[in-house]
Amino acid sequence: MDVSLVDVAPNPSEPLGRYIQRVRDSNRLTQLELSIKAGIHVQTIRKIESGGTSRLSQKGKSGLAAALGIPQEYLDAVVKQTPIEATGALKFCPKCWTPGTTLDPMWTSLRSKYCFACGTTLRDRCGSCNEPIMSLKFKFCPYCGESYKQT
Ligand SMILES: [Zn+2]
Ligand SMILES: [Zn+2]
Repeated sequence: MDVSLVDVAPNPSEPLGRYIQRVRDSNRLTQLELSIKAGIHVQTIRKIESGGTSRLSQKGKSGLAAALGIPQEYLDAVVKQTPIEATGALKFCPKCWTPGTTLDPMWTSLRSKYCFACGTTLRDRCGSCNEPIMSLKFKFCPYCGESYKQT
């Protein structure tokens, strides 16, 4: 796989435009490719990245999160300039989550401990080596090679 390990979490007080650009670069996407993947007009992406707007519609947010492989909570945190710890974490149900897709907000909510669908304890790290999840695009743990999905 040709994806390098990058920190896709927003830095404190990082502006939305710079954050989107950074994560887009780490995904090796052009503005046009991102706009197609996210279902957003390329003008909107240019406007966001140039700092022309720091607002995201719900559709824009879910599109960008899916295209960039980040949880919507990260975008919320950047838009509201709040630390991620306050909004949620990369947590998932090892049984219901399909690696490579976005996480259900019901899992990433700070108060969630168990899966709303099957009751399994939620996880934010590899079940085998305990390293935290680095990107929602990975299907396997980059440290030990274990699948994130429990079968
Ligand atoms: Zn579940
Ligand atoms: Zn692992």
